[in-house]
Amino acid sequence: MKSQLHLQGKRGVELLHDPLLNKGTAFTAAERDALGLRGLLPPSIATQEQQLERVLGNIRRKIADLEKYIYLISLQERNENLFYRVVTEHLDEMMPLIYTPTVGLACQKYALIFRRTRGLYISLEDRGHVKQILQNWPHADVRMIVITDGERILGLGDLGANGMGIPVGKLSLYTACAGIPPAQCLPIMLDVGTNNPALLADPLYLGLPRKRLPGVAYDNLVGEFVAAVQELFPRACIQFEDFGNANAFRLLHHYRDKVCTFNDDIQGTAGVTLSGLCSSLRLTGGQLADQRILFLGAGEAGIGIGDLIVEALKAEGVPEAVARQQCWFVDSKGLVVKSRTDLVEHKLRFAHDHAPVATLLEAVETLKPTALVGVSGMTSGFTEPVVRAMAKLNQRPIVFALSNPTSKAECTAEQAYTWSDGRAIFASGSPFAPVTLNGVTHVPGQGNNSYIFPGVGLGVIATESSRVTDEMFLVAAQTLASLVTDGDLALGRVYPDLKRIREVSMAIAFAVAEVVFKHGLTRMQRPADLKAHIAAVMFDPKYPHYV
Ligand code: NAD
Repeated sequence: MKSQLHLQGKRGVELLHDPLLNKGTAFTAAERDALGLRGLLPPSIATQEQQLERVLGNIRRKIADLEKYIYLISLQERNENLFYRVVTEHLDEMMPLIYTPTVGLACQKYALIFRRTRGLYISLEDRGHVKQILQNWPHADVRMIVITDGERILGLGDLGANGMGIPVGKLSLYTACAGIPPAQCLPIMLDVGTNNPALLADPLYLGLPRKRLPGVAYDNLVGEFVAAVQELFPRACIQFEDFGNANAFRLLHHYRDKVCTFNDDIQGTAGVTLSGLCSSLRLTGGQLADQRILFLGAGEAGIGIGDLIVEALKAEGVPEAVARQQCWFVDSKGLVVKSRTDLVEHKLRFAHDHAPVATLLEAVETLKPTALVGVSGMTSGFTEPVVRAMAKLNQRPIVFALSNPTSKAECTAEQAYTWSDGRAIFASGSPFAPVTLNGVTHVPGQGNNSYIFPGVGLGVIATESSRVTDEMFLVAAQTLASLVTDGDLALGRVYPDLKRIREVSMAIAFAVAEVVFKHGLTRMQRPADLKAHIAAVMFDPKYPHYV
């Protein structure tokens, strides 16, 4: 294979220290001679496959997941090709380490495990100089930016600058799941302070030890960042990640029609959940238009899912007002109903005419939902009586406990299957092991955005789309659902095997690219062979030959 990257004159130690170019012991004799490496490496020359075996052995010998995470991140810091070979070829084993649930623990311990910087930190002390900071990034062709302000990291709350693990992890998934080249990925921490008292009191905290910046000053800093990206990286897509919900909805609303941006917590979650619901209907035999979906949690994820379900129903010809009536929400104050005076704006469009209902159990008994979706970050939100009530109402109750990390899931896979006598169609945000009940093994699906955002990102980047639209998430959900096999469903899994993730991402990217060209969202001419064009963009972690 020919080199995808130019060596930029790098040789010797400088080459070994560049993680995008380094091959470690796999540099050939000819490369060692030509690139000034002789003597800087042990004499034995390894293949990438041998290195892969060594790395896998090292990971598997470690007991604690956090130790495995640290090992993987340090591998990424010295040899990205090898890191992505390991992750891509063993995704079901590695994803829980580089992403949820382990990344949650890593963020909680970020100050302790910090070894080497990755990504860019933009703090409120950098106001007026954001462009210069972006100019410090060593790669010119940035295409995918994931930015967080750390206010709502998974379901763990405000982790301030320690939330940097999330953009780093998410971008690793863009590369592993959809082949977006690592040199085109930029993780950013927007450090505007933290309201987490434990972090503010921690002398080792890595971020600004001050309370969060509110209001106009915050908006101005985000505005300066977005403007600088447009100037320096005009082909980049900005993904907002793990912002608190007030800022998340506001920023999405403000920027979505101005620049190429999306919010994965709102839109990506919606795509993966809609897809899981549609696949579940192949097991229950129902139609989307006949479902009543009850959410625990009415934040970014819940409202985003509700909105996309409404879009899907509208596309089937259901009037919007009728479609909205199919989605009901319970938040920390009870059922979201019109008479409540405490509802923030994003909940209002799902506030229906109904008497107040205080608890989820009461809501299940009153509304008789066909599906229950947990996006509350509330551990044990789906109690035994709640799941039993769902199982009494439905032959195959749909129970999605999507909150992350595992410790925040509304119920476990085992609980869902046990309390429903094995009839629940269960999916979770973080992975659960298969459960055997009365001789039947149930394989829970992982309803995680990582089935959606990498493919959407690839489609957007490959076509240089100027916007990211809701229609893209709708086609992504439909495409994902279409790839679920009867074999998956027979196991109880409403998502494809993670081993097929590259095929899934490729198919989603193609569907997204079709939307881009249909709506003229790019100046690019439609390539004669769109699939081949997308495939050519994808990064291959096999080592290139430099000589
Ligand atoms: P958010 O802060 O925007 O919303 C949380 C919602 O839960 C709010 O409406 C809040 O009122 C409600 N809530 C909190 N405590 C509650 C309680 N005790 N009872 C009822 N409702 C309660 O957060 P979000 O972005 O919507 O994320 C929520 C959860 O969903 C997180 O744990 C997150 O990790 C998870 N999530 C999972 C995926 C996935 O891919 N599976 C994607 C996005 C978010």
